[in-house]
Amino acid sequence: QKASLPKPDWLRIKLTTGGNYAELKDMMRSKTLHTVCEEARCPNIYECWANRTATFMILGDICTRACRFCAVNTGMPTELDLGEPERVADAAEQMGLQHCVITSVARDDLADGGAMIFAQTIKAVRNRMPLCSVEVLIPDFLGNKDALQTVMDASPDILNHNIETVERLSDRVRAKAKYSRSMELLKRAKEMKPEIPTKSSIMLGVGEEWDEILQTMDDLRAHDVNILTLGQYLQPSPTHLAIERYVHPDEFAKLKEEGLKRGFSHVESAPLVRSSYHAHEQVKSATEA
Ligand code: SF4
Ligand code: SF4
Repeated sequence: QKASLPKPDWLRIKLTTGGNYAELKDMMRSKTLHTVCEEARCPNIYECWANRTATFMILGDICTRACRFCAVNTGMPTELDLGEPERVADAAEQMGLQHCVITSVARDDLADGGAMIFAQTIKAVRNRMPLCSVEVLIPDFLGNKDALQTVMDASPDILNHNIETVERLSDRVRAKAKYSRSMELLKRAKEMKPEIPTKSSIMLGVGEEWDEILQTMDDLRAHDVNILTLGQYLQPSPTHLAIERYVHPDEFAKLKEEGLKRGFSHVESAPLVRSSYHAHEQVKSATEA
């Protein structure tokens, strides 16, 4: 049974709470904000929050899609919350963030997919915290070019869009997305604003072959994607997509080399790496590259 593969040692980490973590959690509640750090029970939360990086999830916590690897609830999304950009900026200020990641569920019910709120949130954080870098991890906006332009015009420090898996497995892993549409988005983003670093992520352990991972890297580099993150897929519940295998840390290290060889300016590759892990360093290396 794949679902009950024994967890390898390298994934058994000891969580230590510390600092003002509880206080920050309360602050998020009081502002009715969602963070991926909390909702995805990200194992890096203490380290990231202590290092002044957090990932906010805007546009509600109910998604119009139902990717098989994802723990976010699917259903009828909430009404647009026009006060959200300012509240994210408030929270970023209170946390003293150095790197703020803004992401969202897929809002296929909205004509612009929520792009305007993304743009307003980038601007709100930037107004309040001029030294904080702002990364957006955007959905594919169903291929809507104007929506992407709205986000690019707000000039995020990093434009991130996850390819998630290799081409062959895309339909199975995230039925409503398309490998080619995601690649097209990354290509267009670079064409619109070549100076803004682009970034993508592949989760491993869902049945991909080694050569397919390398091919995905080549496809990303063909569109001049600058930053790559690779991490182990962990099944959020027994009803989610099963883990095919646990990828050994040595393989992650080899894939990092393969990525750097291909010209990515920064590659984070390890079992517990998530898209926004050590994101602050990624901005530095991308802009210095
Ligand atoms: Fe949050 Fe991303 Fe860090 Fe996880 S890796 S705690 S989601 S900022
Ligand atoms: Fe989860 Fe994003 Fe897929 Fe929605 S689109 S189910 S938030 S991965």
